[in-house]
Amino acid sequence: MDNDKHRSAERIIYENFVDRLFEGRGQIIAGMCLQVAVMAILYVETFNPIFFVFPVLAVALALMRLRQSRQFHAERAAISASGNKPDEAWYRDWEWRFTLTTVTAALNVGLFSSSGYLLAETEFVAVVAIVLVFASVPSIIARLYGSIRLAAMMMVSLFLPLTLGVFTVWDAPHLVMVALFVPFTLSAMSMIRDVRQTFVFAVRGSLEKRLLGKRLNDAVSNMSHGLLMLDDDGQVIVLNDPAKAIFGLSEKRDFAGRSLAAVMRYIRRYGSYDAGRLTALSDILSRLAKGEQSKASVLISGKQTLELSANPRPGGGAVLLIEDITEQVRMSRKLEKMRTTDPITGLLNRDGFFTAISKALASSSARTQHSIIVFDIDDFKRVNDSAGHFQGDRLLKAVGQASRKVLGANAKITRHGADEFIACVRRSRKSLEAVCRELRDGLSTTYTVGGEQFAITISVGGADLLRDDHDGTDANIHASLALTDAKSRGSRSFSVYDPSMNVSQLRRQLLKGALMNAVHAGEISPLYQPIVDAKSGRLVACEALARWQHDELGVVSAEEFIPLAEEMGVVTRISRHMLSKAMQDSAKWPDDITVSVNLSAKDFEDTALTDWLLNALGRQNFNPSRLEIEITETSLIRNEAFVSKQLKRMRDRGVRIALDDFGTGYSSFNYLHRLPLDRVKIDKSLLATTSKETSLLQLLERLAGLCAALGKGTTIEGVETAEQLELLRDMSDIGRLQGYLFGPALPADAIATIASAHGSPRAMPDETLPMAYAS
Ligand code: C2E
Ligand code: CA
Ligand code: CA
Repeated sequence: MDNDKHRSAERIIYENFVDRLFEGRGQIIAGMCLQVAVMAILYVETFNPIFFVFPVLAVALALMRLRQSRQFHAERAAISASGNKPDEAWYRDWEWRFTLTTVTAALNVGLFSSSGYLLAETEFVAVVAIVLVFASVPSIIARLYGSIRLAAMMMVSLFLPLTLGVFTVWDAPHLVMVALFVPFTLSAMSMIRDVRQTFVFAVRGSLEKRLLGKRLNDAVSNMSHGLLMLDDDGQVIVLNDPAKAIFGLSEKRDFAGRSLAAVMRYIRRYGSYDAGRLTALSDILSRLAKGEQSKASVLISGKQTLELSANPRPGGGAVLLIEDITEQVRMSRKLEKMRTTDPITGLLNRDGFFTAISKALASSSARTQHSIIVFDIDDFKRVNDSAGHFQGDRLLKAVGQASRKVLGANAKITRHGADEFIACVRRSRKSLEAVCRELRDGLSTTYTVGGEQFAITISVGGADLLRDDHDGTDANIHASLALTDAKSRGSRSFSVYDPSMNVSQLRRQLLKGALMNAVHAGEISPLYQPIVDAKSGRLVACEALARWQHDELGVVSAEEFIPLAEEMGVVTRISRHMLSKAMQDSAKWPDDITVSVNLSAKDFEDTALTDWLLNALGRQNFNPSRLEIEITETSLIRNEAFVSKQLKRMRDRGVRIALDDFGTGYSSFNYLHRLPLDRVKIDKSLLATTSKETSLLQLLERLAGLCAALGKGTTIEGVETAEQLELLRDMSDIGRLQGYLFGPALPADAIATIASAHGSPRAMPDETLPMAYAS
């Protein structure tokens, strides 16, 4: 391999040398002109006809050489065109031809100088003759270094005749002159050798580089990355195949030894880049190559993304890695899109939305007003329930897209929760009211999805974003309050936030707005809280407590919505529903467990409920003695006699009556005498403030004693801890206990389970407390 390399180096040098022999026609002509001119001078000086022969010969030889040169190039071109390379014999042949003509030309000059010197009549002419010989030497050095033999022949042809001529004079100065020819000739020859040596080194070096490049190229073309290796002069050592593929260049082209600029020119001509992007690429490549930068990503023609990195090479130069990351970039964009997109509507999801708002706020001027708009579909549940979730989702998508149209391309919109959307809009001169109204009117329409038509209305709430509200959290809350406010005024409403909208007020409004429908839709139903016998710990009764399962707010407690229902005059409907359900549910429990239902003061304003109950008992075939009614003193204040009469009707039928929340409010002991009562429920607030030391404990004991004396049972409410139970344990007159210690309000079937497990009498309090009911 090394041998090969050397041989081919010699060969390259030789071919190169022969090539150069036939170059520089200008030089031939210039040389000829110089010779003819000098010869002409001699002719004019001497009028010797011999000096006419030399220039004619010089011209003839020059013409021959020109012709030779033309022939040489024509032949070489013909050989190349046939797809071959000229062989060594061919080169040798041409070298021989060249030698023949050129040495003859040199001999012509040498003989001319010699004879000129001899025949010259003036010193000037003699010098001119010699100068012509010397003037030929540099061109020999410059052009014939490739062949020492040829160079030597030329030198001999020039100097031998001259030396012989000068010798004929045979005096001291001329001998000295001839003696000086020798070192001159020798130094010229040594220069020729030096030039040759340098040339050989250079060719070997570049040949080695090219070979190295080829080997490297083979090695690095298996890499998946593009690779560009540059030497310390910024010339390409390797540009591997993947790199060529990235730049759209043919794999066949070899760039070794080319400059980076040359590569860029190729890319411009043959690669797949437009000029603008190419300049960017070229800038980055040269910056990387110079080590001014070590990493860069460039987006080419909007389609291709390249990642480039550079490592300096220890001895100078750089290794550039080029990776086409277009696919990765596309994938990560896709992932990013998925990460920030709501799959149902294609709008932003929560994360994407808040990121987008933060960005929009950060990049907008202080004068831009952003607003948050929250909107939702009125009664969307109806769509979901009637048409199914699939259609519901399609409708959401249609509404989301419509909102994009109404709010414009700059708006950031997300779906938040089931059917609620949040938008962040940049408001110009339009008022927030106008934007909200437009949105409501634009979206409250009939949508056709999946061949089905949905006429829907939208409610909208809006709030302006304040400067210090960086992520829009406050505005979001405000807009939600505004939406709640809008919804409380019925569907297809809009509202703009103002600070008077406080949360509890709005919640009340919201609950009131939804309560009517809740009663109809059966969203209100009872849970049952266990009541135990104080002596045995046995489960003896349950109190039905109303619960409202609200769509958005979750479970709403009776404490919150019963007063609203009373205000709105719909409480009796709830009472009926509760009574009916309680009878139904408790019928599945053991016979000895009774059920208590709370009635409101409003229920006794007329006899309708009492009539209904007495009817229902028969209709549902329910044993009246298993039902207990809980009333509060407020029921009695207005018209005690009227209420008392109805209670009596119920009681006559066998229904038990309890006075609830005793110990609070009016607490008139008179009622205990006058009313048809079976039981008194001592309010939980009493026990809560009772401890061993206080007189309240005695009060509790006395109260229980009094009730017992009047023949009424007692229930202590709000027993939460074992300590409280300890205090109550020794009071002989307490009949029943109720509170979280024995369990919270539970579904009807949980009560059935507990009843079957714990229904048997238990010793109190040593045994495990019926606390276990709760589990
Ligand atoms: P209430 O009749 O005094 O019912 C007992 C309330 O105390 C229930 O609250 C119950 O969950 C809670 N409670 C039970 N054990 C404990 C305890 O150990 N500690 C404490 N701190 N609380 C306990 P809830 O269910 O929110 O009911 C509140 C009130 O709403 C009831 O007070 C009752 O007056 C009324 N109510 C409940 N359901 C109905 C109903 O169906 N109709 C009517 N008209 N009113 C109802
Ligand atoms: Ca009660
Ligand atoms: Ca109570």
